[in-house]
Amino acid sequence: MTQQEIFEALDLSTTESGVFAGDWMQGSGEMVSVINPATNEALAQVTMASEEDWEKVVANSVETFERWRMLPAPIRGDYIRQLGNALREKKEALGALVSLEMGKIHAEGEGEVQEMVDICDFAVGLSRQLYGKTMVSERPNHRMYEQWHPLGPVGVISAFNFPVAVWSWNAAVAAACGDTVIWKPSENTPLTAIAVTKIAARVMEGSGFESVFSLAVGDGAGVGTWMSEDRRVPLVSATGSTPMGKILGPKVAARMGRTVLELGGNNAIIVMDDADLELVTRAVLFAAVGTAGQRCTSLRRLIVHTDIIDSVLDSLVPAYEQVPIGDPLEEGTLMGPLINEAAVESMMAAIRTAEDQGGKVLTGGKKLDRDGNYVEPTIIRIPAGADVTAEETFAPILWVIETDSLEEAIEIQNGVDQGLSSAIFTESMRNAEHFLSHVGSDCGIANVNIGTSGAEIGGAFGGEKDTGGGREAGSDSWKAYMRRQTTTINWGDDLPLAQGIEFG
Ligand code: NAD
Repeated sequence: MTQQEIFEALDLSTTESGVFAGDWMQGSGEMVSVINPATNEALAQVTMASEEDWEKVVANSVETFERWRMLPAPIRGDYIRQLGNALREKKEALGALVSLEMGKIHAEGEGEVQEMVDICDFAVGLSRQLYGKTMVSERPNHRMYEQWHPLGPVGVISAFNFPVAVWSWNAAVAAACGDTVIWKPSENTPLTAIAVTKIAARVMEGSGFESVFSLAVGDGAGVGTWMSEDRRVPLVSATGSTPMGKILGPKVAARMGRTVLELGGNNAIIVMDDADLELVTRAVLFAAVGTAGQRCTSLRRLIVHTDIIDSVLDSLVPAYEQVPIGDPLEEGTLMGPLINEAAVESMMAAIRTAEDQGGKVLTGGKKLDRDGNYVEPTIIRIPAGADVTAEETFAPILWVIETDSLEEAIEIQNGVDQGLSSAIFTESMRNAEHFLSHVGSDCGIANVNIGTSGAEIGGAFGGEKDTGGGREAGSDSWKAYMRRQTTTINWGDDLPLAQGIEFG
């Protein structure tokens, strides 16, 4: 699809407002240029929200919340069903816009929209399953149970690399729970957010609940900070880098607000000497090169057993050299550009640092000589413990580290501050179970014979340590979007006290 076809299909123009509060507002903040990372040319201009706009967005969200929470949850679920259907219809165009604005290939852009559809389906089911527990009371003729109530407007801060899916993991679940949602997308990818908000707005049009899904485009210093400090937003779900989480988390905590933090990763695959090497090559390629290494779950460290390290590299290096790099919207491309020039520079700086720390570039290592932010996918063999491998460089660099035991491999894997995704390749049940045990991987995601990226929405997604501890999407992640209430009812004619206390 061409830019014009994509814009037409999604009802976008080259000048857009980034503020939706039940209605599109003019937006009185600064104007930002949206840049195509494949050419570094401007795609459109978007107005950000000013503090005055933010006030309107929150006020409308609070007012809508007070009515939205009164709808029976399955009726809220029906709106989410319609949202899922509307996204299904726009899958190709929205997936293409993700590629145009963010640079991931079209198959991955469409995959992201499919995730939105999947989480909508999940949330429709969830709207009939917001279960609480019933407990036995220690007091006679008493009944005890817990129930879950909606929380309020939920702030969603998203990163550039999953410009639409992350919103939907939060928004579909939060809306089923009875919350309203205020989205602050990455300032690098506001167009996809505007397109999604237009789709949602059409679904909600005329219902009186248009402000369930609102939008305030802005940066961290503006909307990000106003949202963090605003008591009317009881939960901020923030996805992005660890430094961002370290600024935002304390601000929300200082007002006793809640956070769901989904921050940086430094993901590893351990390859044992009994691994199926064909699976390893395919999994590593997708996990390390997919999305040009710009997934939070991208494979960064490959920790390989001494006995097979040569065979692994013999198959991986030529595979890397055949990766078609180019326009993400062109068929056949497997790797698109990085998001901007700063990302290219930070990749090149990490490669220089690695060389200073004993790293040897086995393939790649260079910027491509053409327009756009294109780089070569890179493999660097490096000693365990090199400082550069402890950082998350958001680019397609794979550190290959040698090990001679599972225990040491796990120590290397866990020896970084982040704790998002991890995997082991082995045919041994003992190795696999050791890796999954409580002395194994310390990450939020631990896989066997599968790469580190490409999670399904049915599981709870997130990681430990500096990754922030939050969980989004499936399983019981919905509980973060509601408040729990424990209720005890006395249906007897006496007033027995808990713990057998006699009081007068
Ligand atoms: P980033 O931290 O630069 O920005 C993320 C979002 O936070 C943006 O919307 C940004 O405007 C906002 N922000 C920045 N400073 C803020 C502040 N002080 N207060 C409030 N908001 C602020 O990250 P990015 O470059 O857009 O994305 C890449 C990063 O995101 C990587 O570290 C990646 O691992 C991480 N990520 C994590 C997950 C996960 O689920 N764990 C998913 C996707 C991306």
